[in-house]
Amino acid sequence: MRNEPIQNGNSALNALHRRRIRWMLWIGAALLVALGLGWSIFFALIGEWIIVAMDVTMLVLGLAVAALTYQKRTRFAFFLLAGSMFLVICGVSILFDVPSAQAPRSTHHFLLVVAVCSLLFLRDDRSVLRYTVTGAYMLAFVVLGSTNSDFGSPYALADSVRVTGTWVNNLFSALGLYALIHIMAAELTEQSSLAVDLRKAITHRELFLLYQPQVTSQGQVLGAEALVRWQHPKRGLVRPDDFIPLAEKTGLILPLGSWVLSTACLQLVAWSRQPALAGLTLSVNVSVHQFCQPDFVEQVAAVMERTGVQPHKLKLELTESSLALDMEDIILKMHALKAMGVGFSLDDFGTGYSSLNYLKRLPLDQLKIDQSFVRDVLSDDSDASIARMVISLGTSLGFNVIAEGVETQGQCEFLMENECHTFQGYLFSKPIPADKFAEYCHSMVARSHVARVPGTAAVPAAPAGA
Ligand code: C2E
Ligand code: MG
Ligand code: MG
Repeated sequence: MRNEPIQNGNSALNALHRRRIRWMLWIGAALLVALGLGWSIFFALIGEWIIVAMDVTMLVLGLAVAALTYQKRTRFAFFLLAGSMFLVICGVSILFDVPSAQAPRSTHHFLLVVAVCSLLFLRDDRSVLRYTVTGAYMLAFVVLGSTNSDFGSPYALADSVRVTGTWVNNLFSALGLYALIHIMAAELTEQSSLAVDLRKAITHRELFLLYQPQVTSQGQVLGAEALVRWQHPKRGLVRPDDFIPLAEKTGLILPLGSWVLSTACLQLVAWSRQPALAGLTLSVNVSVHQFCQPDFVEQVAAVMERTGVQPHKLKLELTESSLALDMEDIILKMHALKAMGVGFSLDDFGTGYSSLNYLKRLPLDQLKIDQSFVRDVLSDDSDASIARMVISLGTSLGFNVIAEGVETQGQCEFLMENECHTFQGYLFSKPIPADKFAEYCHSMVARSHVARVPGTAAVPAAPAGA
């Protein structure tokens, strides 16, 4: 078992991918602004006011995409950009870029560039969304590239302008495609080299677990959540968001998940030998790919037997979205594990679409309010309502409700006022190595001997972590 001090590492491939995406959005926004401005001046000079209005709209859309990108609301920015680009490219192709004997239509070539951009942006999205968006661009490209029709447009540009325009459009769309294909190839190479490294990481002992305390409003530590980290020899510390999706894609999640489970069980056994830590539970994240293995129940039973852990101290965390796969099979396995004494927590609750009917059939012990709701609980009325709804739903179904991502005293007070009394978040502690976690628990036991004003939360100083 390895628990090492945390170093600041780089943020690996996902951060690079996100930076590339933001660059694409900036370039798209700049294009919309430049084209909108240029064309609106041109058409204002010749008095085509309807087209000027369209161009000004384009300019405003470009500014909106830039503002959203600046605020890092990249998804919204992308869909706005993809939608506007589609209308702009199709509009210009149909209205102005009418093919003639001197110059073929060329503006529609940009549809291919945006289609490849969308493929890159929606890389990790549901395939139905990815193929619908790119399919729409491809279809428009095929239609516009296969017809010489002028669609009755009264605004066709003169051939003298279009001959040069054809060269410019073809050059820039070819360059755009080249750059994007280059980026895609680089991402593929990076991913496969990271996958090779991840395979080695498991055997080279580069993975380790951190423990984030789960505490009550009275400052009692009930347990922890085990969170995996990867100390890459060259990239530094890699966070799970940067390698768990890759592990899931490559199947490496199975050996990784089984290492996490064994390590967590060994940690629980180690705690059980220390009186101050003996009563703690440990939550372990389980990927749906692990859970769906036909012999998952037997695997967990074998790990518990090998390590000698007390099953009731182990809590498996499933995310709400994973239930969408094969609910009946998941329910059967949960019941089998529950019969052995293992507990269950439903992670990220509120972000998926669990039917209430299924929820009552799941042998759950705990619902975890997703941190996205907790974050804005004081500033966003709908997040506050969702948090309240989750608490009352969980409580009425007889589950313990825990809020994750609690960062401020205000959030904590809101949750307590609404009858949620178990928390996990930076306000209490970041995820920390096992030795620091033990110190944290001892300090909390010491604090519990200090008198407190009834009804106030005991919020300890948060130790540093990762
Ligand atoms: P999760 O299970 O929802 O874990 C909670 C995440 O929120 C952790 O991120 C934790 O560090 C972070 N967090 C906790 N409190 C706060 C807070 O107050 N503010 C903020 N901003 N963040 C907070 P982490 O460790 O990066 O893990 C991310 C996700 O990776 C986890 O989300 C989980 O889905 C996955 N993961 C982590 N370890 C494992 C593992 O061993 N197996 C599997 N399958 N997935 C894992
Ligand atoms: Mg979790
Ligand atoms: Mg969560």
